[in-house]
Parts: sequence; structure tokens; C-alpha cells
Amino acid sequence: MLKITPYLGILVVIVSIAGLWYPKLGYFLLIVFATLLAISPFRGRWFCGNLCPRGSFNDFWIGKISLKGKIPKILRSMWLRVPIFAIMMIFMFFRLAQTQGIVNKIGMVFVIMCLTTTLIAVLFGILFSPRTWCTFCPMGTLQKMIGGNKYKLKVDLDRCTRCGACLKCCPMQLKVNELIDKSDCIKCGRCVELCPKNALKFER
Ligand code: SF4
Ligand code: SF4
Ligand code: SF4
Repeated sequence: MLKITPYLGILVVIVSIAGLWYPKLGYFLLIVFATLLAISPFRGRWFCGNLCPRGSFNDFWIGKISLKGKIPKILRSMWLRVPIFAIMMIFMFFRLAQTQGIVNKIGMVFVIMCLTTTLIAVLFGILFSPRTWCTFCPMGTLQKMIGGNKYKLKVDLDRCTRCGACLKCCPMQLKVNELIDKSDCIKCGRCVELCPKNALKFER
């Protein structure tokens, strides 16, 4: 399984800041969108836990300054997430329609989106937990809607001793060892590796 490295997170900083002077860097977001759209029908939010530069940024860089508290429950609600997704898409297409097809202006739309979401991710990451942004990120919501029931994390209750190790390590703060919907699992595999009883595995 691929693992997110701290180095991927540097891309977020490059696009958000250097992109203000070199807007073509914003096109990097198109690669990100295309990759997660290609993966999500088969593996749900796997991209979030293994390849996303923002995810890496949240884990490794925001993680160093986060208060590491509880992620507010309301942020997981689809009643909030779907409107956020819709607003983001309307904003993006509205701004793109104003670019008259000029390459740098299009790039700048993506740079501003990256910078804005980075600032929100940093703020929420510090105040709550590093991956707080990932509980309501529009691209995470989209992946959940497309493939939330794919590559599911399964728990073997006969093996589970309820030691709680999986709960402590989950960056999304999911109830890992319960038989409930885990479509927001980002397939990072940390719980699977840590479980002393081999009670967790991904459905093939
Ligand atoms: S939720 Fe959004 S920012 Fe977080 S890892 Fe997934 S795509 Fe990246
Ligand atoms: S780490 Fe394994 S044994 Fe411990 S609570 Fe989680 S699933 Fe159960
Ligand atoms: S449930 Fe396990 S694999 Fe899924 S996000 Fe949490 S730690 Fe990662």
C-alpha cells in the first residue's frame, strides 16, 4: 500500500504561494481532481489517505501545531457537506466563466481555491485535529458519494478485544471497531497495522 509522505504536502505550499506569481501552477489541481475521480469508483476515499498532497500537509505539518482535540460532529453531516460541495462548485465555475479562456486567469482560479482551502484547513487543523478539513472537504465528500461502499474496512468482532488502539490512531476519528458505516475511511491502513489481534482488514 502506498503511504503519504511529508514531501507531498510541500506541493500544497508551492501551489498556494508560488502560484500567486506563477498561476499555471494552479493546473496541478486538475491532476489531483482527475486522479481522485479515477480511483474513487473502486476504492472510495483511498486517495485521501495515500496520495493527496493536502492530506499529507494536514497529517505532517498541521499535525505539528494542532491542539489534537475532537473533530466536531456537525462537520461530518452530509446536510453541511453537500451544500459546501455545491457552493464550491458554483464558485469555481462562476470564476472560470469570467476568465475568457485566458490560461493564467484559469490557473489563478485554482490557485485561489487552493490558498483559501489551505487557510481553512490550517485554522481548523490547529483548533481541532489535523484532518478536520478532510471531514468536510468537497473532494472528500465527492469520493464518499462515488465510492464510499468500496474497499470497505471490516472488523472481525470475534477477534477484537476492544483494546482501543485503532480508535487512538485513526486520523478521521472514526469508530473503527464498530459495525457502522465507515464510508469516510480514507484507507490509510494505520488501524490495520496497529491492531494486535489482526481483527481489521479491507474488503477486496
Ligand atoms: S478530504 Fe480533501 S484534502 Fe483531505 S485528503 Fe481527501 S481530497 Fe485531500
Ligand atoms: S485495535 Fe484491533 S483489537 Fe483493538 S479495538 Fe481495534 S479492532 Fe479491536
Ligand atoms: S479506519 Fe483505519 S484505515 Fe480508515 S481512516 Fe481510520 S485508521 Fe485509517
